[in-house]
Amino acid sequence: MFSLPVRSMSFQAAVAVLAVFLCGFLVWTAAGDTVTSKAAAATPGTTPDATPGGGEGQYEGSTSPPPPLASASGSPSAPPTKVSSAVQAKPGRTEPGKWVSLTFDDGPWNTYTDEILAILKQYNVKAVFCMVGNQARDLPSEVQKVVADGHTLCNHTMSHDEQLSKKSPDEIRGQMQHALDAIGKASPGTPVPFYRAPGGGWSPLVQETAASLGMRSLGWSVDTEDWKKPGVDKAMATVSKQLGNSGIILMHDGGGDRKMSVELLKKLVPQLIAEGYQFTIPA
Ligand SMILES: [Zn+2]
Repeated sequence: MFSLPVRSMSFQAAVAVLAVFLCGFLVWTAAGDTVTSKAAAATPGTTPDATPGGGEGQYEGSTSPPPPLASASGSPSAPPTKVSSAVQAKPGRTEPGKWVSLTFDDGPWNTYTDEILAILKQYNVKAVFCMVGNQARDLPSEVQKVVADGHTLCNHTMSHDEQLSKKSPDEIRGQMQHALDAIGKASPGTPVPFYRAPGGGWSPLVQETAASLGMRSLGWSVDTEDWKKPGVDKAMATVSKQLGNSGIILMHDGGGDRKMSVELLKKLVPQLIAEGYQFTIPA
């Protein structure tokens, strides 16, 4: 007589415990997804471009006519695909400490590349320059200056094709190979270990093609959006917000008016140094 209610209560308790467990599991699972997403977003090199429509930059054209490879594409823009972490470049250092990589896209460019090189030299900082093949072809001396200063080169396609992920395998390879050729002509024998997709136009084929040409896909974890000219203070705040203990910062030395980018760099480098960051090249 006495044991039945206990068993009954135990059963109810068991049901309640099970229900709590299930709810907890569901909450944990959801939270886990959220945490994973945030972690991925905060981990340098896993989310090269989370901004649909080209967070990478607004390339305002070459100083020369479009190359033969540039094919008109009327197809609507799709959100860029995330870079597979399997082939994604990572910050070059994993030791304890604060590590940061500076990357400059859309150059080389008259005046701005020189000004950026001067600032980097002042602080003895080495960076990555993601060059557009057309620019390298037209400004070979600028390529040579970047190389002479010890910076690392990155392929940013021949004509800054933001729709490349939608193109044929031959076109994808052609854009990359022509850019390599242009860079190689300007600076023979200089390695180009990285590829960065204009406008964040990543796809598995784009990454595989880059890899087959000896290049690792290079994303970023901090988007200064300097090409939008938000002002130095706002761009500095963006870096503070997005840069954790290590990260890859995206800026531009070409593709249009980059006066603000130069001013940003003048303030950013000493600030990062003051905050204890050390500069490294992605691996
Ligand atoms: Zn670009």
